[in-house]
Amino acid sequence: MGVDAVITVSNHNLKELEVRKLSSALTSRIGKENFWMDRAKDQHALSINEDGDIIVNTFMRYYGPGYERGDWLIIRGICEFLEHSIPFGQVRYGGDSSDHHPLFSSIKNENNNHWLKYGYEPYRGYTLHKDNPDIECGFCKKVYHDIGGGGGATFLHCDGCGDKIVLDREGIIHNIAEGKDFFGWQNA
Ligand SMILES: [Zn+2]
Repeated sequence: MGVDAVITVSNHNLKELEVRKLSSALTSRIGKENFWMDRAKDQHALSINEDGDIIVNTFMRYYGPGYERGDWLIIRGICEFLEHSIPFGQVRYGGDSSDHHPLFSSIKNENNNHWLKYGYEPYRGYTLHKDNPDIECGFCKKVYHDIGGGGGATFLHCDGCGDKIVLDREGIIHNIAEGKDFFGWQNA
């Protein structure tokens, strides 16, 4: 089970029509693919819940220290847009695994600095495996991350350009075609 991001705005004083207009302003900036809209149910990017708070309808993963999974730029963009657009509102951000949803303004800098320093590397497990310093991506000139493997083979991934290679048990490098997965590399 993954942890989903929860973004809410309390103390907002907005009417339903104003929230609807704000929904389209939000999706036009952030991209509608990041929201869970449902035309049949008249569900927009933003809704008002039973407590009267505005909620963001999304299915994106949470991002924070210890769970570097969700797209922080998108989350930050949504929260900043809501803070800017609803001056008296209290924008809160957290994960659906807990009821602790602090004010976005109180954790923004810490999360942002964590993202600037580590990005998504801790979640992707790059730190668990030993990168091979002798093998670097020719395009990015950076060492491939060792993301695991199996059967004596090591899967190496460049998080700069997405290139994938496999180092087999004999030390021979096999290139994985763009868009292909590591699994089944023997037949590639
Ligand atoms: Zn690369």
